Amino acid sequence: MASIQLHDKVFKPYIDRREVEAIIEKMAYDIAQIDDEDLLVVIVLNGSMFFATDLLRRIERPWEIDTMRLSSYHGGLQSSGQVEFILDVKAEVNGRNVLLIEDIVDTGRTLAFLHEHFKGLGAQEIMTATLLHKPSQRINDMPIEYIGKDIDDAFVVGFGLDYRELGRNLPEIYVLES
Ligand code: 5GP
Repeated sequence: MASIQLHDKVFKPYIDRREVEAIIEKMAYDIAQIDDEDLLVVIVLNGSMFFATDLLRRIERPWEIDTMRLSSYHGGLQSSGQVEFILDVKAEVNGRNVLLIEDIVDTGRTLAFLHEHFKGLGAQEIMTATLLHKPSQRINDMPIEYIGKDIDDAFVVGFGLDYRELGRNLPEIYVLES
């Protein structure tokens, strides 16, 4: 894996394809144990698109899957601190347990926003599966039931994560070169 340039920034290899696959395999096994035939799985776009498809293909449970779209980075390296709502779920949420599929949890603001939102729609239990987590950045203690990997505070791209809309389709995860 070589370094890669996206717009004005250079990113170096960080988590290779084999490790990403092993992380997802383990998460799929754990999530498949959820004891709920009526679970609603919600893919939080855009960042989790590749993670979600790889993860959910490995889970042989006939769960309803829906998508929603949020934006919080507005194309930069720093979160704007404001979560923008772009597209909501269509599925019936009231009375159901929900599993959110997230790409990365940084401050946890998006997670808090999602909990509020799904509580408002009448969800019973709200669970989260995230590929990556930056524990040092958290400003709240919203629970995360399934974490792929804890990482340091660094800006990463690839496997769905972008820098100003580029880099999502990289099959590995790269980190900003300092
Ligand atoms: P939070 O609300 O937890 O601070 O931020 C969550 C969102 O910020 C993620 O869903 C993702 O879109 C974006 N984000 C956080 N850290 C990174 C990162 O290192 N790289 C990229 N590309 N996006 C990130």
